[in-house]
Amino acid sequence: MKKLLFLALLFAVAACHTKQVNDANKLENTIFPEDTIAFTPPKNIILMIGDGMGLTQITAGMYANGNKLNLEQFKFIGLHKSYASNDLVTDSAAGATAFSCGVKTYNGAIGVDKDVKRIRTILEEAEFTGMATGLVVTSSITHATPASFYAHQKDRSMMEEIAADMMAVDVDFFVGGGLKYFIRRKDERNLLSELANKGYVISNFIDQEFNDISIDFNKKFGYFTANEEPLPKSQGRDYFVQASQTAVTYLSSQQQKGFFLMIEGAQIDWGGHANDSDYIISEMIEFDEAIGAVLEFAKQDGETLVIVTADHETGGFAINPGSTIDSIIPAFTTDKHTAALIPVFAFGPGAELFTGIYENTAIHRKMRKALGFIKT
Ligand code: MG
Ligand code: ZN
Repeated sequence: MKKLLFLALLFAVAACHTKQVNDANKLENTIFPEDTIAFTPPKNIILMIGDGMGLTQITAGMYANGNKLNLEQFKFIGLHKSYASNDLVTDSAAGATAFSCGVKTYNGAIGVDKDVKRIRTILEEAEFTGMATGLVVTSSITHATPASFYAHQKDRSMMEEIAADMMAVDVDFFVGGGLKYFIRRKDERNLLSELANKGYVISNFIDQEFNDISIDFNKKFGYFTANEEPLPKSQGRDYFVQASQTAVTYLSSQQQKGFFLMIEGAQIDWGGHANDSDYIISEMIEFDEAIGAVLEFAKQDGETLVIVTADHETGGFAINPGSTIDSIIPAFTTDKHTAALIPVFAFGPGAELFTGIYENTAIHRKMRKALGFIKT
């Protein structure tokens, strides 16, 4: 009996080993679609993430906006599979880490793989190669989506640790909430002083409105829009479109090897969690305005690849029978995220790389390919 068990175990180990070898071979022999497509390399990438923005969120925003969105100007469209390593339904941490690091990881992971190993992010790689970098978000700057581009922590809830990780990178331009994680900390560090020592000009919502600031383009710039999370658009938040525009102007004026900018419309997701279609729609329309501002730059510039996508859908949002263009009848299946395929819109040089259906991690590889980080 013991011998039998041993044999069974041995067989199981061997089978497991064979599977791993097969997986490795499969990866080695994989032909990536982006390796077979001719394209003009862009100088800059602007990645725009509408958190929780599934097709219905886009549709509802479009109808509410007079049946029109700036998103309609994108010619190259794909779909990504959003699942996490440990759950078919991803959260925003694993979802953003797939984009920033190119790995499927567990829900809650910030810039680490499923074994909690740090993975260099595309923002860090861009900075390393001499590009300027930026982040503009409508959440705290330490929230899961932006955090996944500069921080490496085992869980998204570690806001103070995530803020401290900001000291290890040099994001040239950032705008978002979360001031308190920088100044009222358990370790009593004052990260605002540390940023100032690193050459930043830092301002916040208490001292001046974002839209009133004149920015010194020769210094690194950071602005905190809230102590914790910024208000919804409908309650008076009004910096997002202008900050996106200013980020592009600032970053393109830096004499560096191009720039990488991540812009997040964070609260489309929060409208989904609240099962509040008006919340979703107002956030969606503002995100689309930011897209419009970015496209205007990209068209003139001609060297900028703009990618718009979401990490996942939120709410199982549907537009039910009886709806009209002027007034939709919304329905929701959940107040959590769902696992539907997620659209990817691309514009500018390298946009061809983003058609098709692929894993969320492929977006990372396609961006690296576009920027020439992968030589093949
Ligand atoms: Mg987010
Ligand atoms: Zn969410």
